[in-house]
Amino acid sequence: MNVDVLIAGGGPAGLSAALILGRCHRTVLLCDDLRQRNRASHAIHGLLGSEGTRPAQFLQTAREEIGRYPTLTIRQTRVTDIGPAEEGFEFLCADGTTGTAAKVLLATGITDELPHIPEIAAFYGTSVHHCVYCDGYEYAGMPVATYGKGDRGADLAVMMKHWVSDVVACSDGSSVSGAALGRLRQHGIPLRAEPIRSLEGARGLLTKIKFASGPDLVRVGLFFATGCHQASDLSQRLGCRRGDKGGVITDPQSEETSVPGVYVAGDVSRDVLLVSVAIGEGAKAAVAINKALLRRKGLCE
Ligand SMILES: Cc1cc2nc3c(=O)[nH]c(=O)nc-3n(C[C@H](O)[C@H](O)[C@H](O)COP(=O)(O)OP(=O)(O)OC[C@H]3O[C@@H](n4cnc5c(N)ncnc54)[C@H](O)[C@@H]3O)c2cc1C
Repeated sequence: MNVDVLIAGGGPAGLSAALILGRCHRTVLLCDDLRQRNRASHAIHGLLGSEGTRPAQFLQTAREEIGRYPTLTIRQTRVTDIGPAEEGFEFLCADGTTGTAAKVLLATGITDELPHIPEIAAFYGTSVHHCVYCDGYEYAGMPVATYGKGDRGADLAVMMKHWVSDVVACSDGSSVSGAALGRLRQHGIPLRAEPIRSLEGARGLLTKIKFASGPDLVRVGLFFATGCHQASDLSQRLGCRRGDKGGVITDPQSEETSVPGVYVAGDVSRDVLLVSVAIGEGAKAAVAINKALLRRKGLCE
C-alpha cells in the first residue's frame, strides 16, 4: 500500500490528524491497535464541547467523522517497523500490511505504570486516578489519598490541597525526604508510610486502603504518581531524539522530529497530557505535513 501519510496510533491525536489530512485529499493509512490510554476511564473531562463524554463514545464519533473521507483507510493493527525508503519510508504491520509513505506521523501515546497494589486495576479509572486535572474536580469535599514512592506521593498531596481539603499522602513503605515532610507539615497533610496491602471497595468504588500495619484508611479516591513509558518503540527505532523524561523532541512550529519526515502528536511528546492537547497537536502536525507535501510540488513556499 503506497500512501502520502502513515499514521501509527488512532487515539485523539492520530484521528485529529487524519481528519485534517482527509480534508486535504491526502491518502492516509491509519493503523491502531486499540489501546488508547484513557480506555479505563468513564468520562473525558476538560474537553470543550465534549465534556463528560465516554472515551469509547468519543472514539466512535471521531471514527464516524473521518469515515466520510474516501482517501483515508483505517486498519486495526500494530505498526511493527518503519524504515527509510527512496522517497520517504517503508513500513510493516502486524497483520502483514506493508507499503510506503511519504511522511510518517507517530501518535502512539504512552503507557501508565500502575502502582503494584493487588486488585488496583479494578478501581483504575473509577476511583483510582493519576491526573488531578482530569479527575480532581469531582473529589471536592471528599477524603482522598495520594500514592507515590519517595517524595512523589507527598508532592502530589501538597498540590492536591488546592482541589481537596482532606488528603493523606501514602509512600508505600518508602522513605520521604526531610524537605517533603516539612511541606506536608506546613499544609497539615498526614503521611502513611507503611506498605499498602490492599484496596477495599465494590464496583470500582474505593472505600478503604489497608496497610501492612496500623489502622485502615477510609478514602473514596486515590491519585497516584508513578511513571509512564512510550507505548511504542517506533520513535526509538527511527532514531528520533528524546528529552530527559523520554518524550520525543519536536519542532514546536510543525511537530516534526529530529528525523526529517517523521512527525509526532499527542502524548508521545510528553508535553501536556490531555485529550484537547493531543487533538491540537494532531491538527498542527497534519497542517505541517500537508504543507511539506505541497512544497514538493511547488504549491507552497
Ligand atoms: C485513566 C485515564 C484517564 C484520563 N482522563 C482524561 C480526561 O478526563 N481528560 C483528558 O483530557 N485527558 C485524560 N487522560 C489523558 C488522555 O487519555 C491522553 O492525553 C490522550 O489519550 C492522548 O491521546 P493520544 O492520541 O496521544 O494517545 P492514545 O489515546 O493513548 O492513543 C494512542 C493509540 O496508539 C496505539 N498504538 C500504539 N503503538 C502503536 C503501533 N505501533 N501501531 C499502531 N497503533 C499503536 C495505541 O494502541 C492507542 O490506541 C486520561 C488518561 C488516563 C490514563
